[in-house]
Amino acid sequence: MESNQQADWVKRSLHSVWHPCTQMQHHESVPLVPVSHGRGAWLYDTDGRRYLDAISSWWVNLFGHANPRINAALKDQLDRLEHAMLAGFTHEPVVRLSEQLAALTGGVLGHCFYASDGASAVEIALKMSFHAWRNAGKSEKREFVCLKGSYHGETIGALAVTDVPLFREAYGPMLQAVHVVDAPDARNAQPGESASDVARRAAQHLRALFEQRSERIAAVIVEPLVQCAAGMAMYDPVYLTEVRALCDRYNVHLIADEIAVGCGRTGTFFACEQAGIWPDFVCLSKGISGGYLPLSLVMTRDAIYQGFYDADVRRGFLHSHSYTGNPLACRAALATLAIFDEDDVLAANRVKAEKLTAALAPLAQHAQVSNFRRRGMIWAFDAVVDDAQAAATFSRRFFSTALQHELLLRPIGRTVYLMPPYILDDAEIAGLAASVQKVFEKVIAA
Ligand SMILES: *Cc1c(COP(=O)(O)O)cnc(C)c1O
Repeated sequence: MESNQQADWVKRSLHSVWHPCTQMQHHESVPLVPVSHGRGAWLYDTDGRRYLDAISSWWVNLFGHANPRINAALKDQLDRLEHAMLAGFTHEPVVRLSEQLAALTGGVLGHCFYASDGASAVEIALKMSFHAWRNAGKSEKREFVCLKGSYHGETIGALAVTDVPLFREAYGPMLQAVHVVDAPDARNAQPGESASDVARRAAQHLRALFEQRSERIAAVIVEPLVQCAAGMAMYDPVYLTEVRALCDRYNVHLIADEIAVGCGRTGTFFACEQAGIWPDFVCLSKGISGGYLPLSLVMTRDAIYQGFYDADVRRGFLHSHSYTGNPLACRAALATLAIFDEDDVLAANRVKAEKLTAALAPLAQHAQVSNFRRRGMIWAFDAVVDDAQAAATFSRRFFSTALQHELLLRPIGRTVYLMPPYILDDAEIAGLAASVQKVFEKVIAA
């Protein structure tokens, strides 16, 4: 492409494209970054500048941009079948993907329902839970429980179980009422309390609700181990063990939203594995296609599936999306799972994580850094900023300063986090740690 043509489309972008999660007026002063291509952990702009994608392009990219193995799988699939409807038809990629995912749960979650984005997977899990109870003659079980600070997506049903005021505020009157219970965030520890004490205390709050109300509750939805959008709030796995036990005792479904924390992000393929439990529904999206194509899915148990299996059409789950089970997206997911296998990614990540944690040690000790924390391939810390004005603009200033240091980082409020793709080499690890520290010191000093 000619560079004068590039300049032209960049300028036009703000007129025709309404960007996500953005107050468009900000772009009167802050320019958009026009991406021309990506390679490995790096994104390149049309002026030839590069940025280390330290947040995996909104938590989706696991094995780098333009990954040769995923590219090859997609090129092969493109010449076979780009898409076919999944009602009445089937294809090999969707079957193999469902079987491989089921195998990763030891067959416990053996049925896979597909959609395209994370929020739709959450909608499906909520609807399936309600409908499963209805099929079982318990249609009074129609209330849902979420955690303080939870994030499950921004469609109307998913937003109802999302507890982020900024996202909910304008739409409150449109949302169904839900129960919000204490979060097990380890930062809530009182003096003398351990992370597992906080987790057990939070579980008691859920138990109290179940005691009162479980007859009317369909499901509790959680983000296992890390509430990412809340600001990388990390918690002890014992919370999940306790919630599983409570759900069994009070006859409530457990929905694990692993859209952000699944696919190895927390150190195991599913975050729930670290608590030794399986939920009744798992939602996956984001990393499952390697960050290539929109794909989401809900996995569930045979007992729930069997409750829908009937001669009566109305007992079936009649939900659908046009691109359900898209073959290209499924092939990208199969290529992604193959990389996990071929490269023993979970073991390799443990080594990379140790190196990056060691390289970040000086920053972790910084006087204006608090709650430095890590779970698997997620690092986070909170900036201590006393001045209210400086605190309010911290995230935006950090983002802009990071770009000047070849880094894509987008703090959540005052929480700086790293969620890099799983392919950083030693030089990239060292460079990332050094640059984060430099950017942090600049932003704090400003
Ligand atoms: C991103 C996210 C979603 C929503 O996924 P979209 O694809 O953005 O709709 C839901 N839950 C969690 C935990 C997420 O991180």
